[in-house]
Amino acid sequence: MLDGVRLDAVRGFVFDVDGTLLHRGPDGRGRPQPGAVDVLEAIRASGRRLVLFTNASHVPSAAIARGLREDGLPVSGEELLTPVDSATAFLRRYHADRPALLFASGSVREHMAQAGIRIAEGEEAGVVFVAHLEEVEMGELERAARAVTRGAPLFTGSYVRGYAGANGIIYSRGAMITAAIAKVTGARPRVLGKPSRAAVTELGARLGVPTREVAVIGDDLGMDIALGRMGGCRTVLVRSGISGAIDLETVPERRRPDAVIDGVADLLERL
Ligand SMILES: [Mg+2]
Repeated sequence: MLDGVRLDAVRGFVFDVDGTLLHRGPDGRGRPQPGAVDVLEAIRASGRRLVLFTNASHVPSAAIARGLREDGLPVSGEELLTPVDSATAFLRRYHADRPALLFASGSVREHMAQAGIRIAEGEEAGVVFVAHLEEVEMGELERAARAVTRGAPLFTGSYVRGYAGANGIIYSRGAMITAAIAKVTGARPRVLGKPSRAAVTELGARLGVPTREVAVIGDDLGMDIALGRMGGCRTVLVRSGISGAIDLETVPERRRPDAVIDGVADLLERL
C-alpha cells in the first residue's frame, strides 16, 4: 500500500538501516534485504539524494559506512548519518562555547574533536553527551552528574532501552549511562539522534532539500516514522522489521505512517 505517497515527487530519501535495508545474523554481519541495493541505485540514477540514518553511535559514520559496504550495501561516508553527526552539528551550533564531557568510544571522541567539539577536561564540563561506551567508570559518571547539577544540559544519542539482536534484546549501554546520570540529578535527557529536531535539521542539511520534500523509510514506528513526522516528511513503514506486526488501527493518527510496505523492494516500481 503505497497510495498515500507520491515518491516521484520526493527530492530526498532517508533510510533506516537495520530491519529496513538489512538484517543482521548472529555474527553481527548484515545481509541486505531483497531489492535494497537496487533501490539505492535507482534513487541515485534519478539524480536524487539519499542518506542512511542509523542510531548506532559506537564508531563514526565513515566506519559504519565501510562495514555496510563490506556487507554488500554500497553507501558512502557522506550518505551515512548517526546521532554522532546530529549531536556534533547541534553542539557546534548551540553550545560551541561549552566544553563537552563525552561518553563515547575513542574513535568517536577523536572524530568529534576533529569536527571542532571542545572536549572537557577535569571539572569544567558545560554539556554532557552520551553516545555508546563499552565500559564506564563511576568517577566519570559522578563528574557528569556534578556538571549536570551545575546546569550542564544532558544529551544522549538515543534513549530507547535497547535494540533487536539475533538472540533477543541488546540493552543500550548509552541508555544505561544516561539513565544513571538522569536518576541522581533529576535532569531530563534530551535525545539528539532519532527521533529529534537535531536529527531533522541534520538530515535536511545533508540532503540539501526542505524536509517537506523528503521521504523517511524505516521499520520502527517510534523511531523512523516519528523522525519523519517531526520533519513534516513523507513516511513509509517497512514491515520487515521491529514494528512489522503492529496493528496501526491501535496507533493514534498523528503517529501513523503515510504508507506501509512489506519490504524495500516494493519501492522500486514507485520511484
Ligand atoms: Mg530499524
